[in-house]
Amino acid sequence: MTENTRPLNFVEKIVKEDLENKVVQSVQTRFPPEPNGYLHIGHAKSICLNFGIAQTFGGHCNLRFDDTNPEKEDIEYVEAIKDDIRWLGYQWSGEVKFTSNYFDQLHAWAVELIENDKAYVDDLDKDAARASRGTLKESGTNSPYRSRSVEENLALFEKMRLGEFDEGHCTLRIKGDMASPNMHLRDPIIYRIRKASHHQTGDKWCIYPSYDFAHGQGDAIEGVTHSICTLEFEEHRPLYNWFIDNLSVPSKPVQYEFSRLEVNYTVTSKRKLKQLVDDGIVDAWNDPRMPTISGMRRRGFTAAAIREFIDKSGVSRNKGVVDVSMLEFAIREDLNNNATRAMCVLRPLKVTLTNYPEDKTEILTTAGHPSREDLGTRELPFSNTLLIDQDDFREEANKQFKRLVIGKRTRLRNAYVIEADEAIKDTDGNIIEVKARIIENTLGNNPEDGIKPKGVIHWVDATDNVDCEVRLYDRLFNDPAPDAGGKDHMQSLNPNSLEILNGCKGEKGLATADNRIRFQFEREGYFVQDSRYSKPDALVYNRVISLRDTWGK
Ligand code: ATP
Ligand code: MG
Repeated sequence: MTENTRPLNFVEKIVKEDLENKVVQSVQTRFPPEPNGYLHIGHAKSICLNFGIAQTFGGHCNLRFDDTNPEKEDIEYVEAIKDDIRWLGYQWSGEVKFTSNYFDQLHAWAVELIENDKAYVDDLDKDAARASRGTLKESGTNSPYRSRSVEENLALFEKMRLGEFDEGHCTLRIKGDMASPNMHLRDPIIYRIRKASHHQTGDKWCIYPSYDFAHGQGDAIEGVTHSICTLEFEEHRPLYNWFIDNLSVPSKPVQYEFSRLEVNYTVTSKRKLKQLVDDGIVDAWNDPRMPTISGMRRRGFTAAAIREFIDKSGVSRNKGVVDVSMLEFAIREDLNNNATRAMCVLRPLKVTLTNYPEDKTEILTTAGHPSREDLGTRELPFSNTLLIDQDDFREEANKQFKRLVIGKRTRLRNAYVIEADEAIKDTDGNIIEVKARIIENTLGNNPEDGIKPKGVIHWVDATDNVDCEVRLYDRLFNDPAPDAGGKDHMQSLNPNSLEILNGCKGEKGLATADNRIRFQFEREGYFVQDSRYSKPDALVYNRVISLRDTWGK
């Protein structure tokens, strides 16, 4: 997919060298989400990297659900994650995999550790176990249960498996090193009792492996050659290697870490995004304001633009925050090249053309795109009653206002030049209609009297049009770093992130267009029908993105 010519990133370089030096015969990667929420823009980076490497180097990439936390996980998330990966343009190798597929093997490995006197059943409760691990400055202390015999440990672990103990009664820990400077090696827990049904294994198990015990071995079972993950797992690497070295695993994956994608004005944590859904701040995980892949899809972002953004953001071990305007730029570029043009008046104002015959309708034809002939042509009915945007008319204005003003001319996009004569008001003084005249022979020509129009405005025919609702989105957060330094992201919600406009009027072709087509509504931005609310007889459009970056200006 990345058939560009950018230099290889550091992970790609490692893979290339390993292949050249025959350290590996072929490359096997995986994307390992936990199905406890929907994927977000950060995950897109991991997806592009893992699937991209497999594509570039002729290898394979697995999709493996790391499902060791039954209470927080759900099959809904499994399906959503699959949809998101496919939509981004990738296909995993073979069947979808689950860490839970390996629960039997993981259990056997836990028994192997006990048999080799490398793991023990510990009865310390949660708080005592935590205290026993010491601090970064002080060594931990051995649990009093650490010296249990192999036989006793085997028997206790079997009782754990059979459900004979309550949750929290005991755990299985490895015999690491309570004095290790790496806290992860201080006798970490590898199995705990959870009397919970699992979305894949049902009630077969009441003990579940820890993420750390499952992750590296999952990679080993799948023959993952390059186990790529984010930097927070760097400290876990010695523990993963400990398992690999102390167990009879079929292969030895090597882990490489890169820095997480962080985007300003955004939170990338499933837990924090879930809070927005649970608290009703957004209408679902795929609300068009959400930085989830499904939210961006519903909003109208394209997979190509997201991939392009990810590619431009680079892969490194340096921490940094990427400007969200880079993502917006990628969307605009893609849509400018590919979106069909249309006109839609968001806040309609009636214009009556006093010198145009009342019973006449012309059908004007115009291009679907200024440079893309393949996007065809559009037909625009034109009669003596039109609609323009309220913001495009003023009774009086200075020279900066290049739209319709009484006594002045403007061009109607793809149609005639008109001149305004009079504003009609209601009893409250609101302008409800403009009387104007067309200037003859100005279809595609400048006025013969040499008085050129100052600007161009969009319009639709007042009777032959399509009614629609338009939803304008802005950033979800006001703060560039909504959750930095432990801040509560719920405190910086932008109250104006959604504006709903009803009674918008679009050109009539919108009624019959495919509901997935993205349009540029001329002078307004890029729009697509909302997959949740739009119906054939009640169109609802999302603004994908404005035409220009107006933030902070
Ligand atoms: P979250 O905190 O949002 O729940 P996570 O890391 O716990 O994220 P996982 O489902 O475990 O979510 O992530 C699957 C893969 O995606 C992991 O390999 C993880 O490193 C990677 N990943 C998650 N967030 C990012 C990010 N912001 N940038 C790059 N990769 C990420
Ligand atoms: Mg995680």
